Amino acid sequence: MPPTTPFPVFRFAPSPNGYLHLGHAYSAYQGAEAAAREGGRFLLRIEDIDIGRCREEYVDAIYEDLAWLGLSWERPVLRQSARFALYEDALKTLRGLGVVYPCFATRKEIIAAIEDSGVALERWPRDPDGALIYPGLYKDLPPRELSRLMWEGISYAWRLDMEKAKALAEEMAGGPLTFLEEGTGPKGETGRLPIEPELYGDVVVARKDVPTSYHIAVTIDDAAQGITHITRGQDLFYMTHVHRVLQVLLGLPEPIYRHHALIRDETGRRLSKTAADRGIRELREAGKSPEDVRRLIGLEAAL
Ligand code: GLU
Repeated sequence: MPPTTPFPVFRFAPSPNGYLHLGHAYSAYQGAEAAAREGGRFLLRIEDIDIGRCREEYVDAIYEDLAWLGLSWERPVLRQSARFALYEDALKTLRGLGVVYPCFATRKEIIAAIEDSGVALERWPRDPDGALIYPGLYKDLPPRELSRLMWEGISYAWRLDMEKAKALAEEMAGGPLTFLEEGTGPKGETGRLPIEPELYGDVVVARKDVPTSYHIAVTIDDAAQGITHITRGQDLFYMTHVHRVLQVLLGLPEPIYRHHALIRDETGRRLSKTAADRGIRELREAGKSPEDVRRLIGLEAAL
């Protein structure tokens, strides 16, 4: 059951791996305005677990751009890079439940295994983001073989055994899992929806060098910050199926989801961080006002 929410908590959770663009502005406004409208709180979280791609300069730019847009948020701001130990604890819990396994497969091995399976690579199932569904290599290694590979120091990733994880989560929840979508998914999905985490198969939930993943960090932190309503773009909609499984396995509460459509440019293409000409700071430097930005993304001009 989703929480009863006398006091809703919303959030905006950007990754500082580039400058904010119009899509981010739209997402941030969705969370902040829902909080204002519904008498709730609005929190900002910096999702900087990818130390290779995240930069301090972009963190500063996020604060600056959001303030310029007229948004305010509670402080201190939670930063994921300070929380690796907590994510590792979550991984340990998943290991204790026996729902993750170390996977030593390289991309080359994965492709080779698919090609050997007799199914053409282009017909092999892919997840909603276009990645190949993992073919299960290294899944049932005998313990001795497993220790040998680990001992040799070969790089590995922890994968969720999705079938097992879903079954255990449903057993723990006492029935089939669902989530409440108060916005819409890319295909108009809305309302109480059954989970289909098999869409992603055995996802990676941690790596040897980065001991977490977006899936674990977002699940842990939404709960830690008491987020009751997750407002975010539809590009993350299907990942909710994975997050629900993790929430149950880790004993975390169920938030309500409000996915929103993505802002598109004139040609109908999804805006991305590479659409730099539509970056918030570029627009600002070009003399645009926050009201102009709001108009560009289809929001009423007045804040
Ligand atoms: N950090 C993610 C991003 O910038 C968003 C995560 C979320 O809203 O769940 O795409």
